[in-house]
Amino acid sequence: MERYEVAVIGGSVAGLTVASELARRGISVCVFEEHCEIGEPEKCDGLVSLNLLRRFGYQPSLGTIQDMIKRGVLHSPSGKELSFETGRMELAVLDRSLYDMQLCKTAEYRGADVRTGIRVKKFRPEGASFEVITEREAVNAGFVVDATGPSSAPRQGIIPAAKYELEADWIDDSSFHVFFDQVYFPGFFGWIISSGKKRAKVGAAGRGINPFYSLEHLLLGKEYKPIKKIGSPIYVGGPSYPFSEGRLVKVGESAGQVKPTTAGGISLAVASSVIAARWIADTIASSNIRLLQNYQKDWVSRFGREMRLMLSVRKFFESLSNSDLNRLFSVAVERGMDKYIEGADFDFHISTIVRRIGIRNIVNIAGISLASLIKSFF
Ligand SMILES: Cc1cc2nc3c(=O)[nH]c(=O)nc-3n(C[C@H](O)[C@H](O)[C@H](O)COP(=O)(O)OP(=O)(O)OC[C@H]3O[C@@H](n4cnc5c(N)ncnc54)[C@H](O)[C@@H]3O)c2cc1C
Repeated sequence: MERYEVAVIGGSVAGLTVASELARRGISVCVFEEHCEIGEPEKCDGLVSLNLLRRFGYQPSLGTIQDMIKRGVLHSPSGKELSFETGRMELAVLDRSLYDMQLCKTAEYRGADVRTGIRVKKFRPEGASFEVITEREAVNAGFVVDATGPSSAPRQGIIPAAKYELEADWIDDSSFHVFFDQVYFPGFFGWIISSGKKRAKVGAAGRGINPFYSLEHLLLGKEYKPIKKIGSPIYVGGPSYPFSEGRLVKVGESAGQVKPTTAGGISLAVASSVIAARWIADTIASSNIRLLQNYQKDWVSRFGREMRLMLSVRKFFESLSNSDLNRLFSVAVERGMDKYIEGADFDFHISTIVRRIGIRNIVNIAGISLASLIKSFF
């Protein structure tokens, strides 16, 4: 039976980054991806801030960037708009298939063995290692990394979503639009993200809805040429601890490493995979399995606070009605909230916005009692 120090299940952004980092450190690693082509089928819209990706060493190549976003517009249920510049956030719209291929090439160049078209059926402990069983073969691995995405994420955090890629004259190039409406997108929103040259990724998600129906509502009366239609759930439930148990490690969406506010998971998957690989490598080098617990500790020290804030904001947002949202928008527009959003960090947006506005002002703006805000936070 072939032997690897690490077997990774799932060859998408998290699995490929962790494999790339392990291979870079000279660790033998194999990735199993059930689909025949890396990056396919593409389900993600690829809106990402370049900041965190660059910081963790996985900046997208120019060829993977479809558009740079310069403006964001938030729409209230009644049609009021809050528009802001996004230049300082360095927002790019990626071709996710191409970005995943870039990650795959890097991982292979560094020595990872990436096997496509192979689904892992199960894995079972065998002494101090695992037997990983696929449809075709079995390999032995000292550690298993679960990077299988939403299929292993906790059910309660999953929301149905659908998206179209389309071409139309009315598309506002280099911008994204977010539409709030608790009837059509309960607990989430609809979105239009420009991918340049009058093309866009248009989506809808919400609890307990048929997202295709809400998407049709968003596009009502608009002419467009569809390019692709896809239904795929998003995850907003927050981190799924523990990130490791014995020699089994979770990364990316299977560990819930996704922003609970926007369901954005690309940059967090990359950052978390770099952190996970560092601790897996140290554990292998020291033969001290306890070291692996530092992966979660390290992650929580960097992202734990923002995740908790995002989960609180999500809980609060889900409690709002359309009339609450309309009122909030009116006050936000009146008081020029756009300038506070403009300087925010896209990946740590709640803490930066809260810091800029100040909690007392937020309470004033929202017109809600401090007690109800605090209650929603806990
Ligand atoms: C409609 C939609 C829009 C999105 N838009 C954005 C966005 O604009 N910006 C952003 O940052 N994030 C976005 N996301 C979220 C982002 O796509 C995910 O957070 C990210 O892809 C998670 O990466 P991952 O590697 O953890 O999991 P995934 O990308 O889900 O990859 C898991 C991989 O594991 C493979 N796999 C699963 N089981 C097995 C098995 N048993 N054997 C072998 N292979 C297996 C799958 O085939 C898949 O390739 C969006 C998601 C959706 C659904």
